Amino acid sequence: MRFAFTPEQEVFRQEIRDFLRDSIPPEDDGADDGEPSEGRASKEFSQRLAAKGWIGLAWPKEHGGKGMGYIERFVYQEEMTFGRAPMGHHQTAERQMGPSIILDGNDYQKKTYLPAIARGELSICIGYSEPNSGSDLASLSTRAVADGDDFVITGHKIWISNAHVNDYIWLAARTNADAPKHKGISVFMVPVDAPGVTVKPIWTMAGSRLNEVFFDNVRVNRREMVGEQDRGWYVVAANLDFERSGIERVALNLSLFEEIARFARVTQRGGKPLLADPIVAGKLAEIAILFQVGRRLAYRVSWLQSQGKTPNYEASVSKVFGTEISQRVAKVGMELMGHYGQIGEGSPWAKLRGYVQRTYLLSVSDTIRGGTSEVQRNIVAQRGLGLPR
Ligand SMILES: Cc1cc2nc3c(=O)[nH]c(=O)nc-3n(C[C@H](O)[C@H](O)[C@H](O)COP(=O)(O)OP(=O)(O)OC[C@H]3O[C@@H](n4cnc5c(N)ncnc54)[C@H](O)[C@@H]3O)c2cc1C
Repeated sequence: MRFAFTPEQEVFRQEIRDFLRDSIPPEDDGADDGEPSEGRASKEFSQRLAAKGWIGLAWPKEHGGKGMGYIERFVYQEEMTFGRAPMGHHQTAERQMGPSIILDGNDYQKKTYLPAIARGELSICIGYSEPNSGSDLASLSTRAVADGDDFVITGHKIWISNAHVNDYIWLAARTNADAPKHKGISVFMVPVDAPGVTVKPIWTMAGSRLNEVFFDNVRVNRREMVGEQDRGWYVVAANLDFERSGIERVALNLSLFEEIARFARVTQRGGKPLLADPIVAGKLAEIAILFQVGRRLAYRVSWLQSQGKTPNYEASVSKVFGTEISQRVAKVGMELMGHYGQIGEGSPWAKLRGYVQRTYLLSVSDTIRGGTSEVQRNIVAQRGLGLPR
């Protein structure tokens, strides 16, 4: 078995590194706002990626993509995440709405939305969760009622990332109240600036913004429905698998981990480097191993995609593992740095630009967003191991 990237893929990796070195100044390494991956957004940067053909690089050419493989996308995503590139403007749309539209969308959506995503113009947020429907998403109660060529939407979504800055919301709504809960849902593309949509902020303990989104008789044309009416649950399930597929959840805090390891090498305690303490060395070595395993789990998901398969429980395995690594990195950083770990950026006492503290707070939500770790483990048990519900 040869387990390595091809020479062409390594050349591509170097091309991305060169691009990032020239495009992102070293001082702009993400520590200034502390937002992980998709939290950092720049439409201008997205459009520069688009000019290189890198947004939708694994989509087929007929859908506005570059027709490169999913392993190339893995390499690209890994480098962008290591480089803390501001991917937030297009990331969700590229990673999950594009593939969902390719899989389930109508001609209008393919012709309109896919090219706009690939140009780095269109941003789309995810409108699934409601105050009383999170893990049990199929119980959602936002309604979409047919009225001539339109649907009229009424309801309340919560915890929506980026709704205040995105163009569209990818909305799951109930179109049949009489059907069993999984069978009466449809998915719609709804402009966030449509009349009747109201967006209100919710601030997390990490200082990041989520949103409530209210729909008051919001009218969308029938052509905005993605997939078949009442069969949206399958659209949602595949879309969530695309969300959980990326390497970014694993790669996100590798650069922070490397900084923590460097801190342990240069910081003296009792006349010796911290790293000379076998307990410290053991903790860091264990995380280094977790990163290696996490990378291979994400690689497996990309390989499945490269074989034309939609990743399923394998994406959940990767999501649980990747997000739990983030929390382990932040926790070990805190343990090693003592009180310094708790000091935020801006303080003259902050070490590593206060980034350990920031990651510690932000990483709590990593195992909740996109489906909690408990729910991912249920998916692995049921879909992966065939255990009963
Ligand atoms: C930072 C962040 C960003 C988010 N962004 C978005 C977004 O953009 N769009 C969007 O739609 N949503 C978003 N969410 C919402 C997220 O998807 C939900 O919070 C998540 O699915 C859990 O739902 P809930 O909060 O209602 O918790 P609940 O479903 O009420 O769960 C509460 C607890 O019970 C556990 N639990 C529930 N059911 C089971 C079960 N069957 N077995 C075992 N344990 C169970 C859960 O694991 C959890 O620990 C975001 C959340 C966060 C934190």
